[in-house]
Amino acid sequence: MTEQNRNYDVIIIGGGPAGYTAALYCARAALRTLVLEKFAPGGQIGIVDHVDNYPGFSEGIDGYTLAAEMQKQAERFGAQTMFGEVTEVSLAGEEKSVLADGIRYTAPAVILATGASPRELGLPKEHALRGRGVSYCATCDGAFFRDKDVAVVGGGNTAATDAVFLSKLCRSVTLIHRRDKMRASANYYDLLTKKENVHFAWDSVTTELLGDQKLSGLRIRNVKTGEEKEIPCEGVFVAVGNNPNTSLFSEVKLTENGYIEAGEDTKTNLPGVFAVGDVREKPLRQVVTAVSDGAVASHMVEEYLEKV
Ligand code: NAP
Repeated sequence: MTEQNRNYDVIIIGGGPAGYTAALYCARAALRTLVLEKFAPGGQIGIVDHVDNYPGFSEGIDGYTLAAEMQKQAERFGAQTMFGEVTEVSLAGEEKSVLADGIRYTAPAVILATGASPRELGLPKEHALRGRGVSYCATCDGAFFRDKDVAVVGGGNTAATDAVFLSKLCRSVTLIHRRDKMRASANYYDLLTKKENVHFAWDSVTTELLGDQKLSGLRIRNVKTGEEKEIPCEGVFVAVGNNPNTSLFSEVKLTENGYIEAGEDTKTNLPGVFAVGDVREKPLRQVVTAVSDGAVASHMVEEYLEKV
């Protein structure tokens, strides 16, 4: 293990919109700011094809560009980024320490911005068929299914935007939802109903992934009638929500849903530790609420650092 210099005022774990907004505000407040990110900036929004509800982009913007611009903006004011996987944290003491790829970083304040990861269906063969027809990211993998039949499972905005995106590439898209009404925004649903190659399987749950070496279809069951049927398809895009990435944060208090317990002030139960974006318990998880958290957290960090 290498000891890294200790010249940071704040370490931000996670380089999504919340993390990089916190970095922007912290850096502009002349705090020595480090962002630790596992792969690439953006978190979940980094792989979204089109973001239409983030203000300031009248024609919408793709998630990758939005994320990359947020990173560049924070770095213009001096924030640093290190790519590496955080494997250990110690957050309870006055000096916080974070281990990433064998390097230990320390600072008096830490902002947790680790977001959430896609939830699985929990079906047999789901892991074996991952990358062989089972996907959790339509914008990453959709192109492999050009002119093929695919399914999307879920009824939220991710399922809806995935289905819109896939309908432009694939021969057909069957959207399978466990209820008879989507929770996705009405405009996405309206768009889907106008697409001739999009079909809906309402009140239906997926009970089996068919195929051995690669996916050949799904078995679904109607929860109201009990009727079962097979849907032949070469790809299924699972979009049934997310799990917060909190497994490293055993010292931090979580809600019963596993999110970090922190209010609008982003303060956790630990002094000097703040939680922002999708990893925090909150009523609406959007880019716009994530960036708002980032700005608030930086203000709270400044206030905290004045006292320690
Ligand atoms: P979500 O809003 O939590 O929706 C998850 C969907 O999956 C729900 O329809 C839920 O059904 C269903 N579901 C949950 N567990 C299931 C299971 N075990 N089997 C089958 N279905 C299951 O998650 P999301 O769509 O990923 O969105 C996450 C957040 O990101 C939301 O705040 C969303 O608005 C936001 N987002 C925004 C955009 C955009 O605006 N461009 C795009 C993507 C995501 P029920 O409805 O019955 O609960």
